[in-house]
Amino acid sequence: MAVVGEPRIEPTINKASVRGQKTLWASCSYQKNISLNYKLLFLPPHLVRYVLVHELCHTVHLNHSAQFWELVLEKEPGYAVLDRELRKCSQYVPGWLEPSVLGNHDS
Ligand SMILES: [Zn+2]
Repeated sequence: MAVVGEPRIEPTINKASVRGQKTLWASCSYQKNISLNYKLLFLPPHLVRYVLVHELCHTVHLNHSAQFWELVLEKEPGYAVLDRELRKCSQYVPGWLEPSVLGNHDS
């Protein structure tokens, strides 16, 4: 149930796909195609949730502007901690998969 006056994301995505990116957890293109890295399967659920919120916010602001981060903050108040955690979580990806260089959710 939406609270009256509550700003909401109306995520309109064109396409979602799963890929095996080397350096990204996920990305969102200008055409609102969201690509998720299958290595997200190894991450704790709260971080996967943050990646999804982050990318859905990119369907509204396709950049890392102040407005973008305001929207992320609104949807995920603890995002700053999660963002830091995400930068260190390549440890969750098993070494047998590939030497991991993941450090960013996107770029
Ligand atoms: Zn981003």
